[in-house]
Amino acid sequence: IISVRKMSKRFDDFEALSNITLDVNRSEVLCLIGPSGSGKSTLLRCLNFLEAYDGGEVRLDGELIGWKDTISNPRRPLSNDKLRTQRQHIGMVFQHFHLWPHMSALDNVAEALVSVKGLSRSEGRDKAREALAKVHLSDKADNYPANLSGGQQQRVAIARAIAMEPRVMLFDEPTSALDPELVGEVLTVMKEMAAEGMTMVVVTHEMGFAAHVADRVAFLDSGRLVTCVPPAELFGQEPDDPRVRTFLQTYR
Ligand code: ATP
Ligand code: MG
Repeated sequence: IISVRKMSKRFDDFEALSNITLDVNRSEVLCLIGPSGSGKSTLLRCLNFLEAYDGGEVRLDGELIGWKDTISNPRRPLSNDKLRTQRQHIGMVFQHFHLWPHMSALDNVAEALVSVKGLSRSEGRDKAREALAKVHLSDKADNYPANLSGGQQQRVAIARAIAMEPRVMLFDEPTSALDPELVGEVLTVMKEMAAEGMTMVVVTHEMGFAAHVADRVAFLDSGRLVTCVPPAELFGQEPDDPRVRTFLQTYR
């Protein structure tokens, strides 16, 4: 469903991503791990063109993301309208939840359904209720973010993304801003989404989640994709690659 081909990204002179080639299959959960600064967030952000990648291609269901074509030099980006349409198919959940403080949980989820998808307010709220039920927050629909725990806020953010019915969901360290006792409830919701067949790319430091839920785990180091294999291969035996070995040791 996602195909990344020889993709690269620089920030001025700094090569943040080099020659990344990677496929994500439909209904697959791909976890992205690697040291701080290795380019995990940048890779995720290139997938929905929050960062404009420089070289190579990112495609969703065959459609080139962000650029009009790969031939013109310099590359020409898509119009904002077209980009918005592409992004509707790609849900994203960040470390910090970015909810609207002045809106209830329900309206936080309904907002984009009304403003982006053009649903009526009541249709939007109906769909938002369904999404909140999926993240087990039906009883908190009327709460404002200030009156929700961090884990609940993050689940609202997940509901907001899934309500748009994206083809893929991107997560950037969705639990790393949470108190430890709240991590489990968010991971549970993500596991349920995976079981329902959602295609997910998850940047995470939760090795348990990567080991048990991911179909494949990709390891990034210094902007390069070192390996991308099923978790049993990565966690099951001593990894061959010294970079992976050193990284995993910090979690033991
Ligand atoms: P972490 O685990 O700490 O979140 P990461 O793997 O997500 O790290 P990125 O945020 O993708 O790392 O950053 C990769 C590299 O690119 C880092 O060296 C970072 O300093 C650099 N970088 C990221 N964004 C920018 C930017 N907007 N301008 C310049 N350099 C950037
Ligand atoms: Mg990051």
